[in-house]
Amino acid sequence: MKTFAAFCFGVCFISFTVCSPVWAETFVYPKAQGDSTDISFYEGPADCRTLDNIETGAIEKVILCIGDGMGFNEVGLARQAGVGLKKKLWMERLPVTGIVRTFSGNNAVTDSAAAGTALACGIKTSNGTIGMNKDGVAYHSILEALALKGWRTGLVATSTISHATPASFGSHVASRGSEADIAWQLLENRIGVMFGGGRKHWLPDGLNGGVRKDKQNLIERARGYGYAVAYSKEQMDQVTDGPVLGLFADDGLTTLKPEPMLSEMAAKAISLLNQPGGEWFAPRPRFFMMVEGSQIDWAGHDNDTDNNIRQTLLFDMAIKEVVEFAMKDRHTLVIVTADHETGGLQLRASSTQPTRFKADWHSKGHSGADVPLYAFGPGARAFAGVQDNTQIPQKIAALTGVNVFPAVKETEAVASKN
Ligand SMILES: [Zn+2]
Repeated sequence: MKTFAAFCFGVCFISFTVCSPVWAETFVYPKAQGDSTDISFYEGPADCRTLDNIETGAIEKVILCIGDGMGFNEVGLARQAGVGLKKKLWMERLPVTGIVRTFSGNNAVTDSAAAGTALACGIKTSNGTIGMNKDGVAYHSILEALALKGWRTGLVATSTISHATPASFGSHVASRGSEADIAWQLLENRIGVMFGGGRKHWLPDGLNGGVRKDKQNLIERARGYGYAVAYSKEQMDQVTDGPVLGLFADDGLTTLKPEPMLSEMAAKAISLLNQPGGEWFAPRPRFFMMVEGSQIDWAGHDNDTDNNIRQTLLFDMAIKEVVEFAMKDRHTLVIVTADHETGGLQLRASSTQPTRFKADWHSKGHSGADVPLYAFGPGARAFAGVQDNTQIPQKIAALTGVNVFPAVKETEAVASKN
């Protein structure tokens, strides 16, 4: 009997190995091409006038764009490089502006986990914590609250998709470093579109760069749930319906070719989330999407002026896509803000070039500086003025008919593999 069982196991194991679609998991990401100082992709707005707001109409879509580490001076520095001092970036054409305070639950200077949790769940928490308060009580994110109302959901980032900011919208963990658990929860949460990096957190330890100690293959699991999986821009372009999981690097993106650019990922996500019907999606296209310019922060930590400019301009090109969609759609609320400032950036007079300011970094970490907010569309006026970061999802909830927010997430609803 034992022998027979062993024989059966052997046969099954062999046939499974032969038949399982391992081709996709053996995909090798091509080498990055390009230059991290190149900003030739950037096309600033020809018209610098403030956009007329769309005041009326039901809010059917909300797109929250987060520049990680993007303070006022990061915007100013990118403006100088991208369009010149007299003109405007795309985000600066949005008609409603605000100022956002960023302190966390246990520190005057936040990290991206506590700030992401504030922007997603409307609560203060300790630095390092995702989607729960300092006592470990999980709260619904605005994405989850809207998903419960039948809205489609999307997360787009240039970091790993399980990194602190996107993680805050679809997972609940005590430590931001638990990216294996975060990936699991993002999938169990059935986020409709996920575009970013971090494939290694979706594959079992030992399989093509995978690092999951639990040996789970979340890519196969996602396919089982009906997800299309894309590892390249070409594969992303071929996807015609959701849900879709696009993982364009083992770790964070390089933001260089041949990866899709943030603006391309954002545009594709919008087109998938906005199409009527679809097998998996709810029938009416209402959606919440978060788009993160993740690496403005990383360049700030490195005090890398050129890359900081480049990352802010890459983010601004994604905002161009978002705003152009919102102007046509007329039912989309767009909010652009940051989680915190990184690098204590000051803009100093230059002794050699008096018509240009010079980047002067003051730290390798985050600062407590307030950050900008730009908004457009129905409901945008609610975001004017000085506000706390926790008020942003609270205002979105009030505008979209989410009755209770912030709201404790029922324990059994917290996705867990145990
Ligand atoms: Zn940071």
